[in-house]
Amino acid sequence: MSYWTLPDETATAALAQRFAAAVDGGLVIYLHGDLGAGKTSFARALLTALGVGERVKSPTYSLVESYRAGELTAWHLDLYRIADPGELEWLGLDALGDPAALVLVEWPERGSGALPAPDLVLELEHAGDGRRARADPRSDRGSVVLERLGE
Ligand code: ADP
Ligand code: MG
Repeated sequence: MSYWTLPDETATAALAQRFAAAVDGGLVIYLHGDLGAGKTSFARALLTALGVGERVKSPTYSLVESYRAGELTAWHLDLYRIADPGELEWLGLDALGDPAALVLVEWPERGSGALPAPDLVLELEHAGDGRRARADPRSDRGSVVLERLGE
C-alpha cells in the first residue's frame, strides 16, 4: 500500500503524472472518495499525461467517455448517478473487458458485478484544505505500476 499527502490540486495532478509514466498498457483503476475528493482531477491529469489531446470532461452526466491515448484506448466512467448496476447494460460496456484498455472508474461500488476487476484501487479523501491518497494493488499488473512509481 502507498500513501501520499496532496496539499493542492497541483499535487494531485503531479501524482497522476507519475502514474501515467508507470502505465504501459491495459489497467483498471477504481477511484474511491467522496464528492470533491479529486477523482476527476486525478483522472483528467492521468489521461492528459498519457497523451489525450482533447479536454477531459467529467463523465458525471454521460456516465462514460472514451479516449485515444497514443496506442491505448481509455475509458473514464463516473457511476455516481447509477442506481442499479443493471443500468450499465444499456451502455454496452463490453469493451471495458479488453485487457489492453485503460479503465478509470469513479464510484465503482455502484457498478459492482458489471465492471472488470480492478488492478489498482485509489482512495482519495479530504484532509484539511488538501487531500490524502492511498493506493492498493489488486493484481500483478497493479503491483508493477506501484513499484514503478517509486523509481
Ligand atoms: P471528484 O471527482 O472526486 O468529485 P474533483 O476532481 O471534481 O472531485 O475535484 C473537486 C475539487 O477539488 C476541484 O475543484 C479540484 O480543483 C479540487 N482538488 C483536487 N485535488 C485537490 C487537492 N489535492 N487539494 C485541494 N483541492 C483539490
Ligand atoms: Mg468526479
